[in-house]
Amino acid sequence: MTHTKLKSIGIGECNWTEGFWADKFKMAEEVMVPYMGDLLCGDIGHALNNFKIAAGLKEGEHKGMFWHDGDFYKFIEAKTYIYAYTKNAKLLSEIDEFISIISQAQEEDGYLQTQIQLRENVDRYENRKYHEMYNTGHLLISACTHHKVTGKDNFLNIAIKHADLLHTIFMPETKHYARFGFNQTQIMGLVELYRSVGDVKYLRLAEKFINNRGKYEVKHDSTTIGYPIGDMVQERTPLRESKEAVGHAVLALYYYAGAADVYSETGEKALINALDLLWNNVTQKKMYVTGAVGQAHYGASTNLDMIEEGFIDAYMMPNMTAYNETCANLCNAMFSYRMFGIHGESKYMDIIELVLYNSGLSGISVGGKEYFYANPLRMVNNTRNYNAHENVTETPDREPYLECFCCPPNLVRTIAKVSGWAYSITNAGVSINLYGANTLKSKLLDDSLIQLTQETNYPWNGHIRIKVDKCKNEPFEMAFRIPNWVKTASIKVNEEPISVEMISGTFARIKRVWKKGDIVILDFPMEINLVEGHSRIEEVRNQIAIKRGPIVYCIESPDLPKNTEILSVYFNGDAVLEEEYESNFLGGISIIKGEVLLRKDSSEGMYNTVTKPVWEPFKTKFVPYFAWSNRGQAEMTVFMPVVWR
Ligand SMILES: [Zn+2]
Repeated sequence: MTHTKLKSIGIGECNWTEGFWADKFKMAEEVMVPYMGDLLCGDIGHALNNFKIAAGLKEGEHKGMFWHDGDFYKFIEAKTYIYAYTKNAKLLSEIDEFISIISQAQEEDGYLQTQIQLRENVDRYENRKYHEMYNTGHLLISACTHHKVTGKDNFLNIAIKHADLLHTIFMPETKHYARFGFNQTQIMGLVELYRSVGDVKYLRLAEKFINNRGKYEVKHDSTTIGYPIGDMVQERTPLRESKEAVGHAVLALYYYAGAADVYSETGEKALINALDLLWNNVTQKKMYVTGAVGQAHYGASTNLDMIEEGFIDAYMMPNMTAYNETCANLCNAMFSYRMFGIHGESKYMDIIELVLYNSGLSGISVGGKEYFYANPLRMVNNTRNYNAHENVTETPDREPYLECFCCPPNLVRTIAKVSGWAYSITNAGVSINLYGANTLKSKLLDDSLIQLTQETNYPWNGHIRIKVDKCKNEPFEMAFRIPNWVKTASIKVNEEPISVEMISGTFARIKRVWKKGDIVILDFPMEINLVEGHSRIEEVRNQIAIKRGPIVYCIESPDLPKNTEILSVYFNGDAVLEEEYESNFLGGISIIKGEVLLRKDSSEGMYNTVTKPVWEPFKTKFVPYFAWSNRGQAEMTVFMPVVWR
């Protein structure tokens, strides 16, 4: 990579040792991946069956969404990451078995899309709604990850053969395929393949898919019919002229992430300028306090194109009907991680951390087997049209299987690989991006060894101890991220306070000759903060959310008197809030103890004459948003109207 400030550490170089992320990794290894394997390789998920049938190894027909192949590739990617960190040989042989089946399903010329291969009367690259680009992207990414981790070529060769076919079809300027690049994970996949094998034609094709967007008239033709067009799929405005994030949130963010990958290889100024604007627009105008994105299931863009599952107007942030697909939230982190690599600024990591601890993790139950697809900030029973659509994604409770299975493997692969985001290699040394107990064994740019041990109970406690285990005998810089929520931070090296700029939302940089045994102590006192939204966000006017460190809290039914409606819960602005760690509650979390006011004089009319409300104080606790809905079906809210005395 030539146009990035930071270099990622290698897969397997940072290992969680204990605490929050070690627990989550263990859950991914022992519960999420095996359980998901049972689903996807069995008859419920039917994903492996589709490949087996296409390979001629089984009788039957395709089942699942058009993008089911892609979701299976993501699952393989997760499994590959688990292998990378555990070296469990059984996983590798299981993956090899999948690859063998997939290779038999692949056609002579490289085509591989079971949703088309197993359907009659549907042609290859006939209509973009069949999600061939999405499946292709995840195939390439998964195969490149497998190659990186194992050094083997069996999966990579499938990807190369497939990408070569893609190149012959989409590189020539043909009108028929001009608007085909939709749900564009193939851009990330092609750049990844370029990085893996070094053939620049894959990078050029990735660029081509960006260049095509916004170049052609937006009207339905045979390749687009059956799915919204225009802003919905980011094809109304060329990317380099875009100033506003539009359309389907997952489609948009995969597209922007892919474009950031292209920029990091080409260094094209117009591209990064647009991506800077888009990132700002997403995170400053259209993002929830949990890092979630995609405000509406149905809506319109500012150009009045119909939008589904995506971005609507700036500051229009409904709580109850927020869509906030788990994938979209994770894509926000993926896009931010690429921008972080490019610019090296802490603000991108703040967003990543926000997503990871809140709207990413909320997609999975504490036990690891039940999923949320939509992640609203308020759940009120019977307000959403659960039965109005054929494929329900906005469920009142977590589900053991989702017909549309894109989110679960996306989340588990993120959990499996997130230690790879904890550090970066900088031009001057190493940056510490995420906190959590771990060990790092990597190399600086000059190939010298760097080994660190990090000990902390983050995110429940802001005390962090980093020990140098091995490093070169020359000065280099360690850059410590000061999260944006920190009010006062302190840093000591070998018990001596160090005079260094400690500004929240930036890196504190210490350059010196580091020695084995050096100990850095960071202290980020974690206060309990009340957060309010910008006054233009009507939906949260006069409301607050509770946040401690990177964790956003909520209140839910099990912590309220029986039959209390969540809409009658007000926050007592004068209440004293206290944090308490509970090791045996919801997987081990810090709760916040406090008081709410329950309004007792509710009226049923749409508008009612109001008198001074009757309040009943109630002592309760708030739980992390990510851990909600683990105690049966519940009502929940992040934002509460506040009453100040
Ligand atoms: Zn999804």
